[in-house]
Order: sequence, then C-alpha cells, then structure tokens
Amino acid sequence: MPSVTWDSKLSAVAGSAATKIEKAFGYRTVGELLRHYPRRYVEKGSVSDLGTLTLDEHITFVARVVSVSQKSYPDRRRGGLAYRLEVVVATERDRIRLTFFDKKKHLADWRARTIREGASALFSGKVGRFRDEWQLTNPQTTLLGSEDEADEAIAEFAAQPDLTAIYPATASLQSWQLQETVLLALRMLEEVPEPLPEDVRRSRGLLDARQALEWIHRPDSWAEQRAAEERLRFEEAFVTQTALAQRRAGLEALDAQPRRGRDGALLERFDGRLPFTLTEGQYQVSEEILRDLAAGHPMHRLLQGEVGSGKTVVALRAMLRVVDSGGQAALLAPTEVLAQQHHRSIGSMLGDLAAGGMLGGDPDGTRVALLTGSQSAATRRQVLLDVASGAAGIVVGTHALLEEKVQFADLGLVVVDEQHRFGVEQRAALASKAGLTPPHVLVMTATPIPRTVAMTVFGDLETSTLVELPHGRAPIQTTVVPLRDQPAWLDRVWGRVREEAAAGRQCYVVCPRVDASGGASDDGADDGADDGADLPLDEAEDTEGGTRRQVPLAAVEQVAPLLAEGPLAGLRVGMMHGRMAADDKDRVMREFAAGALDVLVATTVIEVGVDVGNATAMVILDADRFGVSQLHQMRGRVGRGGHPGLCLLVTNAETGSAARHRLDAVAATTDGFELSRLDLEQRREGDVLGASQSGSRSGLRLLSVIRHEDVIADARSAAAEVVAQDPVLAHHPDLQRAVDVLRETEQADYLQKA
Ligand code: ADP
Ligand code: MG
Repeated sequence: MPSVTWDSKLSAVAGSAATKIEKAFGYRTVGELLRHYPRRYVEKGSVSDLGTLTLDEHITFVARVVSVSQKSYPDRRRGGLAYRLEVVVATERDRIRLTFFDKKKHLADWRARTIREGASALFSGKVGRFRDEWQLTNPQTTLLGSEDEADEAIAEFAAQPDLTAIYPATASLQSWQLQETVLLALRMLEEVPEPLPEDVRRSRGLLDARQALEWIHRPDSWAEQRAAEERLRFEEAFVTQTALAQRRAGLEALDAQPRRGRDGALLERFDGRLPFTLTEGQYQVSEEILRDLAAGHPMHRLLQGEVGSGKTVVALRAMLRVVDSGGQAALLAPTEVLAQQHHRSIGSMLGDLAAGGMLGGDPDGTRVALLTGSQSAATRRQVLLDVASGAAGIVVGTHALLEEKVQFADLGLVVVDEQHRFGVEQRAALASKAGLTPPHVLVMTATPIPRTVAMTVFGDLETSTLVELPHGRAPIQTTVVPLRDQPAWLDRVWGRVREEAAAGRQCYVVCPRVDASGGASDDGADDGADDGADLPLDEAEDTEGGTRRQVPLAAVEQVAPLLAEGPLAGLRVGMMHGRMAADDKDRVMREFAAGALDVLVATTVIEVGVDVGNATAMVILDADRFGVSQLHQMRGRVGRGGHPGLCLLVTNAETGSAARHRLDAVAATTDGFELSRLDLEQRREGDVLGASQSGSRSGLRLLSVIRHEDVIADARSAAAEVVAQDPVLAHHPDLQRAVDVLRETEQADYLQKA
C-alpha cells in the first residue's frame, strides 16, 4: 500500500471523490480530512425480535416491504413541499411501520423507487412511538437481493463494530463514503503529527495523536471515544492558547513610544474641571492604563464595564495623556450616531481645551476632529488635513478612519469603543497607521465577556473591569408586558410614558423594524451597524409551538405616527432609524438631547452608548425579537441622569415560551455578567466567536468556549509555560506548524473579507 503523509493531497486517499469532498467541505489534504470528526455515533444494537420493543432501543432486523405510500405536505419552515414515505415491513412474525422524511422531490422519488413493495432490506434505527404504534424514523436501510444476501448481510452486520461513526455529510456525499475514505486514510497514513509536548500529554494522561485519531473515527467502545475526544479537545485549546501566548510574547518584545505626558498640561486641567469625582474603579483602571502608556511596549488592554459605568472618561483621560505627550489618539466608534455623540460629548467635556489653534482657544488645547463616511468632500478634506498635520489631537470616527487615505502625524493611541462590532482585523488596520512603532490600543466593551471567551478570543489582551456604577446612577426597573395575557396593559404603558413626559422626562420607544415591509432590515448604509437587522432568533421563534405569528412586527415608520395621533397625542414624538441620512439622525439626536422631543421612536440605533440623562423610560415593542444582551444594552440608555429608570418589555410571546423566559430573566436581574452567560447559552458558538473563529475554519471542533472553561484554563497555563521556555518552539516543530496553520486560516479569512 502506498504511504501518505498528513499533507498529502486528498486525492491520494480519496481518488476521484477528492473533488467532491473539497467542494463540500473545503478539505484539500489528508490531514484536513482526518479532522473531519464524526458528528455522532450509532450503537449497532443486535438483530432484534420485533415482538419485544422498548422506546429508544436501537434495533436492526431484516424484513420485507409490505406496503409503501408517498405523502407530501407543506413545509412550514422552508416553504414549498416536503415528502414522507410511509412503509410497512414484515418479518415472519411481526410488522412495523417505518417513516422516511425527505425535503427534495427527487430524493423522495428515489427513495420510493428503491424501497418497493416486495423488496427485502436490513433496517437499523431507533424505536419510536407514533399514534400508539411502534415506528422507526429514517432507519438506515441496506437493500438485499436474495435470501443468500440476507444471510450475508446479517453476518456482515455481526462483524461490524459496536459504534458506527456518522459524519457531517451532504446530499451528494454520504456519511458512509466519508467513513470509507477516512478509514483508508488512517491505514495509509505513515505518521501523525503530535502538537502536544510529551510531558504536557503524559502529565494529563492524554492519548497520543495517532491513537486519538483512530479512536475518534473508529471507537470500539464509548470509553475509547471519550478518551479520544478528551485528547483532541485539549489539543484544540492548547494550539489556540499557544498562538495567543506567542502573540503576547511578540507584543512584549515590540517597542512602542512611551507616552508620559507633562505636568500642568491637558490631563491635569481636565481633571480639575471634571464635574464629578472618579469612582475608585475608574481611578484604578485609569492608573493602570497610564502606567501602560508610559511603558515602552504597546498596550493591548480590554476595558469592560457595565453600561453607564463611565468608560468614556477613562478613555478620554488616556487620550489626553497621549496628546500631552505630543501624540494623537483615535477613537473608533461602531456607528455614525455614536461617533457623533462621542465627538459632541468629548467636545463639551473639554470645553475650551478643545479649541486648540483657534482664535481665543487655549494654547495648551487640542482639536477634536470627527471623521465619518457621510461628510461632504470639503469637510472631509479639512479633517484629513488636521489629522495629517497633527492639529487634531483627538480624532473620533467610524470605519472611515480605517481608510487608506487617513494619515496621522503621530498616532499614539487607538481606542475602540464597543469591541463586539469590531474585529481583530480592524484593530490591526488602524494600528498599521502608526508608522514604525505600533500604537497603544484600548478596547472598550459594555457586553461583559465571560472569562473563557476573553481567554480564547481576546487572549492577547489584558483585561480591566469597571464593576461599580458611578454614584447617583438610579436603578432600572424592568417589567414584562405580556399582551397575549393582558392586552389592556398596553394603554397603561402609554399612560406611563405620558406621566414621565408630564414630569419633564423623556422616553424611548424601540421597534424591531423600520417599516412594514417586514423582512427588510435597517442596515444604515453609512455605518454598517446591525441596526435592527435580522435577529438571531427569528426563525426559531416564528415556528415556536408550530404556529406562525399573526401580528406584524412593530415598525418605526408606523408606530411613530400612530402614537403621535393616538395615545401620545400632544407629545412631541420624533423618530430615528439606520436608513435615515446621517445628518437627519444627528439632528434628531440633538433635538432629543436638547429636550425638544418628548418621545423618540427608534430602532436599535440607540442600542450603544447613546447618552441622554433626562431619558427615564424605555418601551421596547416586540421585545422578544431581541437578544438578552441587546435588551440589557438598550435599557442602559435610561436612568442615567440620577432619576430612576423604567423599562417596559412589551411582547406577544406566550407564557412559558422560551422567549418569555428570556424576557423574564432580563427583568429579574441587572447583572450584566449573569445575562451575558445566559445569552451565550442560547446562542451557538459561531455567534460568540464571530464567523471567522467558528467551526472548521478555526480548528475549534470539539472545544466549546462556553462549556469547556476548565480545559481552556488548563491549556492556557500549559501553553504559557511552553512558550516561556521555548518562544519560537524550536523543540516543538509539530506544535509550531499547527499554530502556523491556525494563523494562516485567520489570515485567509481576513483577506477574504477585505
Ligand atoms: P459607558 O461606560 O456606558 O460608556 P459613559 O462613559 O457614557 O458610560 O458614562 C455614563 C455617564 O456617567 C456619562 O454621562 C458620564 O458623564 C457619567 N459619569 C462617568 N463617570 C462618572 C462619575 N465618576 N460620577 C458621576 N457620573 C459619571
Ligand atoms: Mg460608552
């Protein structure tokens, strides 16, 4: 038998099927194929007597087809038709019903042609119950031609292993085809690379690489399968953590310009005029950051803090320190609305300190520039000049900041607001503007990130957390308004809004849609925020309980006039959504901030960072359409000015539904960490890590950042030790190669997106 290596082309083992496999899964090498692990395993069971069945038992038997009938029915979820083949089969003594489901007509027809009346087959599957009768759903079927074949099939069956691997497959590439190819590859493969250092592996009692592969693809028992999975899962964590440990070590080896500031300059003067005292947490984190800035290595710090915990001041102090050192700071915001707001609020916090170089401005002062995609060419030209000349010490902007034309005189600090909307690539793109020495980087997020995710995704960042909220922050009272049970409560909701307005306060009304056209999302062309865009739970919720929802979703363009003419007549009602021109959004936001509007009907454009202290109530319509973290973020917009906040979650979701549980959880706690854990549990891994870091692309197949916290923590310390002793992994070539492959994948994803 010719031997193959890990890197051999797939065709060496798959022959002509190689193209099919590449098309289906993107694998090109033997090694990639061997990382295609079974999705699940089926227990063989034994040749069974149909007379004594138990629920969920796995049975295998030979029987003759007695009757077949094909039915079609409307497929609610996908639209169109789906097909069901109802088959009755008989052994010498018993009969049982089999049901096969198919989504495509040609597959259904093919099945009806092969499972014909009178045919004999070996059936294998799990016993279920339907309408008080035993039945098998989609049993594995091997057609038999003759009596002899039946005996042969039974003998062959007896010789099969107890566990059969079932692979992720496609319509044209079935599990058994993949299995054959995988097993052949395993037999032909000379050497399996071993990324785990011997002592790391032995001290944990983990299998070696070859054994693990053999047992994941062809286990003889569940114990073997588990041992294999444990070893391979640890390997995934270990390789990821090694890559991150190397990245951290690389950063530590880099030089950055230390930014130490000057006495009596901007930062000191800014502190002197702050209208409040910093909380203990703000002070400590600030000190940490100023220390980082003064060091000769680039800072890479993640600042997490609850909504309203006062991250902006902390960031601004860091920016001022850099300006005091002759450098510039860039603040990258995820949306145009937020960039404008930051620009405005930084300007007002700085006062005349932000009028540097202007007539009558402060000689120590600097200039705060705003750069967004929707500015006029003339404005833009001037901003670009100010940025390039260094006249603007602080530059606030959206993605527009990342464009190649934007040149800084001396970029010393990059602050990224709301990390979850920015990838590692964007951070890198901005960092590359700093010329020879990399800038310091501060990433802020209000979505608390559980420790494991922080370790995996942000493993190259140090973390600071603001735990307390500034004094005077009033608690937010959240209440679910279930319209199905209590339709009359809606009047009460608008009554509350009127009461707030009568007391001189302002309210937000949030809708999931912009207009009634339903499926349309609210992607602001200007800022790319996923403002009101398709929500992750859409489909699942739609078919919950088998009923489609009847009520159309609340849409800003309908709700605003309805309220203004109906229950909120007499109040000043404005509206805002991502499809409005940037200028219009800015104008509305200004009006609302100035108190010229009582009620703002909006999409999730207001989700992040919008800060109007006088806003005290938020009504979220069709609240079940939003994720847990999103709801938490949004309600953080109220109760910021020392007045108690009120958040009303209006929903048509049924009592007892998953959606209702989610809303109840949000109403029950204001602990962001608790909620983000809940959110994670409900989402899939891919949503957590971002597409580029999920699934086969990332090498994370068995490892879940949600469930395997202990594995990740263990791998992290092991990797740190290995990298500390051998930074370039000279003694661990297989490990270095695995890390390189991981990096190449990240790189490829980046290029694909760019
Ligand atoms: P977030 O962390 O959500 O970005 P912000 O930085 O926007 O929070 O701060 C929220 C509000 O709290 C702002 O109006 C800010 O001026 C105010 N604030 C920040 N720090 C303090 C403090 N130490 N005492 C009182 N108010 C503060
Ligand atoms: Mg903020």
